[in-house]
Amino acid sequence: MRFKHRYTFNVGNKKLEEFLTLNEIPFELKYGIGVFEVFEDDEHWEEINKNTNHYDLLSLVETIYSPKEFNNAEWLSVRSKWRWEYPQPEGKMEYRHITYNDEKLCIGCGRGLVQKDSFRLKKTPKWASKYFLMLNWVEDELFISSKAKEELQKSSLKGIHFYDVKRAKDNVSFDDVYQLHIKEKLSPGMIEDNETIASTIQCHKCGGTKFIHNGKGIKYKKSVFNKVDVDIIKSAETFGDGHMCARIILVSQEFFQFIKNNKLGRNLEFEPILLV
Ligand SMILES: [Zn+2]
Repeated sequence: MRFKHRYTFNVGNKKLEEFLTLNEIPFELKYGIGVFEVFEDDEHWEEINKNTNHYDLLSLVETIYSPKEFNNAEWLSVRSKWRWEYPQPEGKMEYRHITYNDEKLCIGCGRGLVQKDSFRLKKTPKWASKYFLMLNWVEDELFISSKAKEELQKSSLKGIHFYDVKRAKDNVSFDDVYQLHIKEKLSPGMIEDNETIASTIQCHKCGGTKFIHNGKGIKYKKSVFNKVDVDIIKSAETFGDGHMCARIILVSQEFFQFIKNNKLGRNLEFEPILLV
């Protein structure tokens, strides 16, 4: 895996621009913002890192994995790059009361929602050549087309359940969008080190913990997966800033291959889990 840093800076920082030019690092200037990207395995990385610290520049880190790393990963995280619409009713986030049991919701950190009913939507998505989506505000549920549901039903993957999605105005179930319902939850086992975790947030109201990753992968104890007999599962740990609170969706190598072989993953983003 390789770590890619994406830096932004305010246009007019001539010293930084000179430094980048001198080190042959291409940068773009647009709408008053400069952008450049550097890999940590770049031969000038140390000097670049020193200078970006000097200029107080923050980077967004992305981990780039090789095809071999994807194919060798026993478990991967998955999310949809396609975000669509909002759960209904969206006013005052009322959906949290209808779709979830919110008796244990912590107003401090957003932890404690338990799904009790279908998600409601205003309409169905135009899937075109896509098969999966995630709703805005809901970071740990996947929604699928009827075609994806059909394919998944034919598979031998375990832990695959579906939940109807309903039309908000009359509660009638749609026939071309479903929730891929993930019932299983993994035991706690994420490695909480500063190589992968940017911050750990302790909620003052409920005492719960949430994490924010730094972009350099997700690390787990290998042993927590030993007794897992499903191909899709949610993390015990919760993540997110402010009131955002979500679990990571983890899938097996079999699930990943199934999506790849059936060409269902156009807008899905997988990331190999580092097992130690
Ligand atoms: Zn809390």
